[in-house]
Amino acid sequence: MARYTGAVCRLCRRQGEKLFLKGTKCQTEKCAASKRAYPPGQHGQGRRQKLSNYGTQLKEKQKVKRIYGVMERQFRKYFKIASKTKGVTGKVLLQLLERRLDNVVFRAGLGISRAQARQIIRHNMIAVNSRRVNIPSFLVSSDDLFEIKTKDKAKAKIKENLEISKERTVPAWLEFNADEMKGKVLRLPEKADIQQPIQEQLIVELYSK
Ligand code: SF4
Repeated sequence: MARYTGAVCRLCRRQGEKLFLKGTKCQTEKCAASKRAYPPGQHGQGRRQKLSNYGTQLKEKQKVKRIYGVMERQFRKYFKIASKTKGVTGKVLLQLLERRLDNVVFRAGLGISRAQARQIIRHNMIAVNSRRVNIPSFLVSSDDLFEIKTKDKAKAKIKENLEISKERTVPAWLEFNADEMKGKVLRLPEKADIQQPIQEQLIVELYSK
């Protein structure tokens, strides 16, 4: 699956807010969005135009895509599934994104960012219900069990991540035992479980045009 490989901090600067894509660095004074609080590029410091309705909706969609590291095609696929699923489309869309295995690994603290969580999964270190899963977009369901399955050397690195991430609280829909590196999906995530403020209604309006 395609993914963005450019400079990550540019995404926050383009968005005009901190998206916390780099783990611990985001909390330091090195954060590019704090140091250079204007869009990247030659004309970044020029006059900012007021956004139209469409521009606001587009910006919100870009924000969610950037937070979860999802490209347009896959994002549209999620929207299509959400619009066909019973319930409020915007909320179902967020739930689908939150259920991604890379997000679960990140939210449990096994990776310091979603990008690192993706790498852990790609390297075959995660098992769901005792079967190895190396697909970051795998969707977890209620009662799924997830765990680290790897050699001791790699485990040491993941322990380091857990130590770094210990300030972050594991969301209420997940249960995680850091000593055993095992967790469980207690229930499906809800909007209230998502840390960053997202106006999903704007995305629904955008795609409904
Ligand atoms: Fe965004 Fe983090 Fe880079 Fe700051 S350090 S610009 S929050 S990715």
